[in-house]
Amino acid sequence: MKINLSNRLSFKLARNTVLVALALGMVLNLFQVVLDYLNEKTALDQDIQALITISHTPASQIAYNIDSRLAEELLDGLLKHPAIIEAEIIDTDNRVLARKHRQMTDSAYRWLSDLLFNPTRNYATRLAVQQLSDVDLGNLNVVVDTYPAGTAFLKRAAFTLISGFIKSLTLSALLLFVFYVMLTKPLLKVINSVSEVNPEAPEKVRLPVPKGHQYDEIGILVESTNDHLQTIEKSFQLVRKTESRLKNYSEQLELIVETRTKELSDKNDQLIKSNKESVVAKEEAVRRAKARADFLANMSHEIRTPFNGVLGMISLTMEEPLSDRQKRQLDVAYNSGISLLDLLNDILDISKVEAGKLTLENISFDLRHTVEEVASLLAQNAHAKHIDLVLDIDPAFPEHAFGDPTRVRQVVSNLTGNAIKFTEKGTVTIKLFKQDAFVILQVIDTGIGIAPDAREKIFAPFSQAYSDTTRKYGGTGLGLALCRQLVTHMSGKLTVESIEGEGSCFTTKIPLEIDNTTEHKPIRRPIKDHKFIIIHKEGQPEFLNLIKQLQYWELDIETLTYPESGVDHLKEIEVKDPENTLVLIDQPEVSKVITSVIPAEHVMLVSGKHYAENKDSQHKSFFQIHLHSPFSRSNLEKSLLKLVGEEITEMTSQTLPLRKGGEGHSVLLVEDNQVNQLVAKAILTKLGYLVMIAYNGQEAVDLVKTHPFDAVLMDCHMPIMDGYEATRVIRSVLNKPDLPIIAVTANVMHGDREKCYSAGMDDYITKPYERHELLEVLEKWIELRRREART
Ligand code: ADP
Repeated sequence: MKINLSNRLSFKLARNTVLVALALGMVLNLFQVVLDYLNEKTALDQDIQALITISHTPASQIAYNIDSRLAEELLDGLLKHPAIIEAEIIDTDNRVLARKHRQMTDSAYRWLSDLLFNPTRNYATRLAVQQLSDVDLGNLNVVVDTYPAGTAFLKRAAFTLISGFIKSLTLSALLLFVFYVMLTKPLLKVINSVSEVNPEAPEKVRLPVPKGHQYDEIGILVESTNDHLQTIEKSFQLVRKTESRLKNYSEQLELIVETRTKELSDKNDQLIKSNKESVVAKEEAVRRAKARADFLANMSHEIRTPFNGVLGMISLTMEEPLSDRQKRQLDVAYNSGISLLDLLNDILDISKVEAGKLTLENISFDLRHTVEEVASLLAQNAHAKHIDLVLDIDPAFPEHAFGDPTRVRQVVSNLTGNAIKFTEKGTVTIKLFKQDAFVILQVIDTGIGIAPDAREKIFAPFSQAYSDTTRKYGGTGLGLALCRQLVTHMSGKLTVESIEGEGSCFTTKIPLEIDNTTEHKPIRRPIKDHKFIIIHKEGQPEFLNLIKQLQYWELDIETLTYPESGVDHLKEIEVKDPENTLVLIDQPEVSKVITSVIPAEHVMLVSGKHYAENKDSQHKSFFQIHLHSPFSRSNLEKSLLKLVGEEITEMTSQTLPLRKGGEGHSVLLVEDNQVNQLVAKAILTKLGYLVMIAYNGQEAVDLVKTHPFDAVLMDCHMPIMDGYEATRVIRSVLNKPDLPIIAVTANVMHGDREKCYSAGMDDYITKPYERHELLEVLEKWIELRRREART
């Protein structure tokens, strides 16, 4: 490898060393020259002074003797000195005794010497003889030319500097050579060896140690490079080994992947095949579920039609004069029929859900009211078993929510019914509150509880917690299955927690949207103007909820409790303003005790299961109103209003006068089943309606043409012409848009109701129906049409 001279290490080293030495030499030389310059300056002075000192005595004798010849000889002697160019002896009056002079040396370099030493120097010495030292004899004056001394100095300086420079040059040449031999050459050797290395296998090379450099830095550098090369070679060997192993492994891996891919694709094929099979199976299952639902719908239709006859006939017979025994037997038969009907409805509902035919309504409804209604319906069952049925509804619970009121009622009613059924003593609490976006409904009982292993099982159709449940409590095991399916359909969850022997808690968590257009109404003014004292036995849950509600209404309340042992200490209570104070008590005994401080008209009894015991007439005079628990919020408000002496002006369904029945209105009954004709006709006649019967749609159309009926009860499935067709003809061909037509059908599947409405019918009731249902629907439509006709 060729390296430029100026780039070589030896050159750089030599150059740098020489430059440093040169600089140092120059400084030293200059120093020496300066020293010489200073010496030369003083040496010239000393030299002349010495000459003058030697000449002083003869010059003084000459001046004393005024001997001009001797004076000139002396001055000639002085001028022999190359530096002295002028000398004179003068007396005290400046008269020249003798003077000698010669020309100054001229030269091209004189300016440099003059610059350093000045051109001339003047010396004067006073002349005197030793005996008459105080007598002034005159002066010896000497003028000196500095040039001879200056040129001598300049020559020396030039020699010093030039020789110094030559020394440095020689030194650098020597150093260059030494460095080349010692450093550059061996390094070049090493470099050449490296550059000859095979690029394919650089680790194979070993660098030669330059001769004579085994123990110096170059030798060590080469050796450690060789060591590294050896290590690299070993590592390369290892890497190559690993590489080859890796190659082997990757080949194996490729093989495995290939095999696995093949297996996977086989499995995938199988999966696609089984997917296809399962899709077919699913379609088959859905088809079967649909077929089962259709079959059940048909079965239900076929069962309901004769069942209408059975229940109708039983209820008609029960109104005849019968012996007690016969009445009891018919009662059992009727209740069994109702249970059978419930079972049928449950089975139908479950099959609807399974066939995907269940659609939920989404309307705004009063959930609080729904729960209160269920509680009030089931209260009798609870009280018959001496169980408290407690409503714990959050007073701030929203007024309305969106959902399916019928299905929600079904769930609440099922869970509460179960809780009462499986509780022998204690309390059943229905709790309702909102938690984030969910409505939480809990039914908590203190009943028999459910064993841990049965807690999931009970949600499967026809499953009960214990094998003897049916024998002991009855039931079919369908209720909870249906509830869970309904709640799941509402995107909610139904769960249970239970401790065997202590009770259960069924929790329903449904995401019902709140209807924000409705708000809580504040409590009416007259109630707010009173103070309330609430007296109850310690730990009465229904009273705690009552207090919560009163507090929510922001009423002025005071609570007093008494222990299990008795009410005696209540005798000491004081009432400051009895006129404006109302007292709510939990049992008649309390009213007896407090009657001395508060008038009976200001006392309200709130009680549930003890009602039967409390009927005792001797207590009755001590309280004004009895509110039966579980009470609804509106009933509580109404009772409080009554207690403060306010009359309730709006008419509720309970306060409407008893209905008078048919009042001679004519009804066309369209029904092909003779038993059902018999039942309906008997009921309608009893209610005071005039009844005409048509066996099918065609007969109905003919009769409507000729008779002015007040309403038509229309079966849907009939021979010759069905109910839908007959309705269409009556509406469009006979042009009777106002004649009330009510469907009476055993079809209860989803869509049947809509089918009736789209055919032009006004309302819809299902078989078997109860007497009051028939009466309500007829009254509603006849009255409505009559009012429309009047306006
Ligand atoms: P049924 O009540 O007709 O038997 P359900 O589906 O409503 O059917 O209930 C299934 C079973 O779950 C019941 O038979 C009973 O064993 C158990 N169960 C339901 N509710 C309760 C409850 N509140 N306490 C104890 N067990 C209950």
